[in-house]
Amino acid sequence: MTILDPLLQPHYDIVLARNPGEQEFHQAVFEVLESLGPVVHKHSEYVEAAVIERLCEPERQLIFRVPWTDDQGKVQINRAFRVEFNSALGPYKGGLRFHPSVNSGIVKFLGFEQIFKNALTGLPIGGGKGGSDFDPKGRSDAEVMRFCQSLMTELYRHLGEYTDVPAGDIGVGGREIGYLFGQYKRITNRYESGVLTGKALAYGGSRVRTEATGYGTVFFAEEMLKAAGQSLSGKRVIVSGSGNVAIYAAQKAAAVGAQVVACSDSSGYVVDEDGLDIDLLRQVKEVDRARISAYADERPRARFVEGGRVWDVPCEVALPCATQNELDGDAASTLIANGVIAVAEGANMPCTPEATRLLREKGVLFAPGKAANAGGVATSALEMQQNASRDSWSFAYTEGRLKEIMTGVHDRCAAAAEEYGAPGNYVAGANISSFLQVADAMLALGVV
Ligand code: NAP
Repeated sequence: MTILDPLLQPHYDIVLARNPGEQEFHQAVFEVLESLGPVVHKHSEYVEAAVIERLCEPERQLIFRVPWTDDQGKVQINRAFRVEFNSALGPYKGGLRFHPSVNSGIVKFLGFEQIFKNALTGLPIGGGKGGSDFDPKGRSDAEVMRFCQSLMTELYRHLGEYTDVPAGDIGVGGREIGYLFGQYKRITNRYESGVLTGKALAYGGSRVRTEATGYGTVFFAEEMLKAAGQSLSGKRVIVSGSGNVAIYAAQKAAAVGAQVVACSDSSGYVVDEDGLDIDLLRQVKEVDRARISAYADERPRARFVEGGRVWDVPCEVALPCATQNELDGDAASTLIANGVIAVAEGANMPCTPEATRLLREKGVLFAPGKAANAGGVATSALEMQQNASRDSWSFAYTEGRLKEIMTGVHDRCAAAAEEYGAPGNYVAGANISSFLQVADAMLALGVV
């Protein structure tokens, strides 16, 4: 592991001592601090005002019991969390995750990342994250509804369109957001649309939210390639996963002229040298909810590789859009040997630190998820704007705003990397640019 700058190491030591056992949170803090050496040497005011210690300590952390009754009449108890990490730029904004693995360390790591991702969008949103160890898989709609209602019966007092605005994440989709919003509305007697995002179009949702993360990743990749005198057009692209982010990344990449030849799910991958048929992919994954092999069953020229690694398919551009740590050092070496020129992370933390290091050392253009997948939260902020003005924008207008925002994210990362002596390093650029924005707001607001 790299050694931190002596001005930053004591802050990291405090994080380790104060948050024992929370490895994911330690890693997320380390990754940001690793980029900030040149910043604290240039701006001693951030150190003097203890901005880094304050940034690493959430403004508020909630942990609460969620009691509910299952379909057999048995009382079930889950634990829920909300980490309201930083509100210097706006109300806390970040999703709720329902998954058995959720604990305070994971929520804290995601909330910390969210502060910087949200700042990069240039929109007025602070950072937060929440969730529960509740597992919606195998639960009936009625059980999910009772769980959501019980969770909101506690959480509502901490939320508000100017205070804290949750959204979905793993295990929390349109159904859960609907139940959560319904209970919030009932308890507060307020139709406060902007208190939750990811709503259905019927009651205040935004067009393009479904497509936003995948489209945004492609917009970012296009900008990064353009800055290097290249373009996605005509490039051979592979995508990992075939969920929400992957499908719309593949769709947009194909729309800008790339040849998207492979995608995957947890059972294996498919290669389709003619270019993926996105309509068929959507039918298989979104409508039929089938395994990815069903795609190959329908396309005679496509090939399904059971249990295989999509990274073995030669490509010029790779878009990891499935899950954390899915692309390791070995996979990165294969991609490099096959001539990859760019990798943009659609998922959160899909590349291991070793993979990132190898790709960067070999001069592969690398877009970190913090920047490249910010399109999802950016469009959530656009949903808040529409709710505040009692408006509903067209698809074309909303997509135009998303594209503009992603270009801005790219340009901010590139400019910060250049200014701090790391031209072309989007990891450093994303961390430095977002840190400066949050830190300046914190200085302006005083010791609060
Ligand atoms: P999703 O719809 O649940 O899709 C995840 C996809 O990844 C599925 O195809 C899944 O396959 C596949 N997958 C999971 N584990 C895998 C593995 N070990 N190997 C290969 N494929 C695997 O989730 P999503 O919304 O697309 O999110 C994907 C990533 O993007 C996550 O890291 C998420 O945090 C991040 N993200 C999402 C958004 C958003 O707006 N959705 C925004 C920012 C970041 P199976 O179907 O076989 O499980």
